[in-house]
Amino acid sequence: MTEEASPGQRVNTRCCIVGGGPAGMMLGFLLARAGIDVVVLEKHKDFLRDFRGDTIHPSTLEVMHELGLLDEFLKIPHQEVRQLTGQVGDERVTIADFSHLPTRCKFVALMPQWDFLNFLAEHGARYPGFHLRMETDVTDLIRDDDRITGVRGTSPHGPFAVMADLVIGADGRHSIVRERAGLEAEDLGAPMDVFWMRLSRRPDDPYETLGRVDIGRVFVMLNRGDYWQCALVIPKGSAEEVQREGLEAFRGTIARLAPFLRDRLDEIKSWDDVKLLTVKLDRLRQWYRSGLLCIGDAAHAMSPIGGVGINLAIQDAVAAANILAEPFVRGAVTLEHLRAVQRRRAFPTRATQRLQLFIQNRFIRRVLESATKPSLPWPLKLLRRFPLLQRIPARLIGLGFRPEHVRTKERGPGV
Ligand SMILES: Cc1cc2nc3c(=O)[nH]c(=O)nc-3n(C[C@H](O)[C@H](O)[C@H](O)COP(=O)(O)OP(=O)(O)OC[C@H]3O[C@@H](n4cnc5c(N)ncnc54)[C@H](O)[C@@H]3O)c2cc1C
Repeated sequence: MTEEASPGQRVNTRCCIVGGGPAGMMLGFLLARAGIDVVVLEKHKDFLRDFRGDTIHPSTLEVMHELGLLDEFLKIPHQEVRQLTGQVGDERVTIADFSHLPTRCKFVALMPQWDFLNFLAEHGARYPGFHLRMETDVTDLIRDDDRITGVRGTSPHGPFAVMADLVIGADGRHSIVRERAGLEAEDLGAPMDVFWMRLSRRPDDPYETLGRVDIGRVFVMLNRGDYWQCALVIPKGSAEEVQREGLEAFRGTIARLAPFLRDRLDEIKSWDDVKLLTVKLDRLRQWYRSGLLCIGDAAHAMSPIGGVGINLAIQDAVAAANILAEPFVRGAVTLEHLRAVQRRRAFPTRATQRLQLFIQNRFIRRVLESATKPSLPWPLKLLRRFPLLQRIPARLIGLGFRPEHVRTKERGPGV
């Protein structure tokens, strides 16, 4: 599954993917399956990181079905979220009901992201063209005049270089590829950051995945079986201030937002048990240049609102594979093919970000800045009054604006 880079190694491949997150691993898998030689470079030594976002959406489960992998995939332990519920002040409302989606799986699967990525790595390893290199940190691009021809970086075994017909930047929100390629990003702004933590879950706790909104705070609890994965949304840049107020005040905030957690707040023993994730919302004006394409968060950093970033990243990967596989097999990927990937994915990206901005600015920002109890916003009032409307957020969260389907064919040894 994993290859070690030997000292000073220089490797040639058709496609070099920087970043083994959802976008990079899915694209690597799909291209290798289509018979194309691909090298995926991941800077960490494994996929074992907490709080990466553990949602597998119905559209991704549909992709797994199209690949013939769904039954095996669902054997991995997971929880199935069929409804999303929110509580604003004292009022509860079902926000999304996935049970009517036109997909095989009418739920969001909550599964540790490392299980998902390991699954793709194991299945990718069945194809001779799939090469995953862990602990390889890309630090720069290699150029030939104006064209990107490869990447260089470091690994525990020393420096390495990978030369490729195409470099893919799938290295996430802090993408070095986009920065080194000089691709210009439009910053859309985000008013919040997020503290993540785990608290144990008891048999008599509520079952659903919950969001709670109260004076000055938003709190989300994802049911992960024997624990709750909790997110406390705070105003951007206020993490130090929250920490200065001390752990006791922090525990008090959570007790106020979710009183049933009161009896286990001593599980938060120090700030080491609470991880800060900074939120960013932006997108590249142009996702490509000669020899290079960015996808996923590297092309458009997503806010955690709606938990849709992973879905979008995977959909980018499926679309990129659909558009690029044939040109790879026939000989050359041109600028026109790269432009076609951006054209295909620009609309769902813009539409999703517009919706995230609307929720951020019209709702979250106001709650975070307010000192009074929030009231149910009008979109949620509508959802409560007309439950049929709960199918709309379910579609947007579960499928996205332009669900992609696998069009690439499985082929033999790499080209
Ligand atoms: C607080 C927070 C919570 C979120 N929760 C959710 C959620 O519940 N559901 C959801 O769908 N989305 C969520 N998101 C959004 C989601 O995390 C991203 O949209 C998604 O992970 C993007 O996938 P990606 O593959 O493009 O990038 P990433 O998941 O960021 O993967 C990039 C990979 O590249 C690697 N890498 C980076 N730099 C280099 C380098 N120089 N060399 C080699 N490798 C490198 C990284 O180690 C990483 O593995 C959340 C975001 C935030 C900020």
